[in-house]
Amino acid sequence: MTDLVILGESMVEFSQIDPGLFQQSYAGDVHSVAVYFKRLAGSKSRSRLMTAVGHDGASNGLITALEQEDVDTSLVFRHPSRQLGLYMVNNDASGERSFSYWRSDSAAREVMPLFREATQVVGDGGYQPCGLAPRPDMFFFSGISLAVLNPETRPAFWDFLEAQHNAGTRIVFDPNYRPKLWRSTKETRAEYARAFEYAHLALPGIEDLQVLYGVNDFTDACDFLERFDIEELVIKDGPNGVCYRGPREHFVEPITPVERVVDTTAAGDSFNGAYLAYRSQGLSPKAAIARAAKISALVIQHKGALIQPDIFQQALIKLEPVEQ
Ligand code: ADP
Repeated sequence: MTDLVILGESMVEFSQIDPGLFQQSYAGDVHSVAVYFKRLAGSKSRSRLMTAVGHDGASNGLITALEQEDVDTSLVFRHPSRQLGLYMVNNDASGERSFSYWRSDSAAREVMPLFREATQVVGDGGYQPCGLAPRPDMFFFSGISLAVLNPETRPAFWDFLEAQHNAGTRIVFDPNYRPKLWRSTKETRAEYARAFEYAHLALPGIEDLQVLYGVNDFTDACDFLERFDIEELVIKDGPNGVCYRGPREHFVEPITPVERVVDTTAAGDSFNGAYLAYRSQGLSPKAAIARAAKISALVIQHKGALIQPDIFQQALIKLEPVEQ
């Protein structure tokens, strides 16, 4: 059994079906990681999303959607006045998608003070400044999780991360860079440097590293990340393969490109959730990467971040087994 806590933001999504007609769901990078991890890690594992929502119907809807996926909501805190962030996906006449966001005042930005308040009140044996009970095996956060935290609350986040790290929780970080969420690249680099320092496992995409640090390929990326002393690196590069560098091995796993990509939303997030799930089940890094790549290949052949559970289960049965 693996207990994974995932910090970040899930939003209301409105996706255009026809002009003026939108389908509503809930989405976010960590939402996808939480769901795919839970779907693949087995019933004994736990996936806890740590976030904040409001008291409104949309927030209740998110909690219900998470519960339907068996994602644990005990770390979803309620903000007294804020609500969920929201985004719209519009399609123009040629099928090109564009995204509009309303997330700058979302409840999730205040998750750290809400967490502190909650643990002060309900902590076992009184005040617990930044502990998670029970201590999770793994803690996952992304560059988006970091970016959306109200900057004034980031010191509380770093204290919290340090406490998790010292308690023996495995820290997992995906830089998932979204320039619009940051005030400057200087700020991003400073925050990411701290994140890489704490990470036992980093799951970056090469494109993010290219934009932020000018690295061009797997070799450059490994050389650049060497300075942070990260135990395991899993570097993604779309259909061009996945590079693994760990204490005992270093290899590039080739990817079979998908012939007809429908929607690349959640390619990296489903890969992350699947990789963590398969490693937690004892698969080797190589086998876990091969299998996770099949999951993201499946995801990008469907519209949206989350494949419907029944369709996903049927597709899983058809995936060839991989060697352990
Ligand atoms: P991100 O969404 O973080 O940018 P990538 O684009 O690197 O991540 O994709 C994540 C994973 O999705 C890849 O490692 C690969 O396994 C899979 N993937 C992405 N694009 C393709 C593709 N065209 N064909 C097959 N697999 C793909």
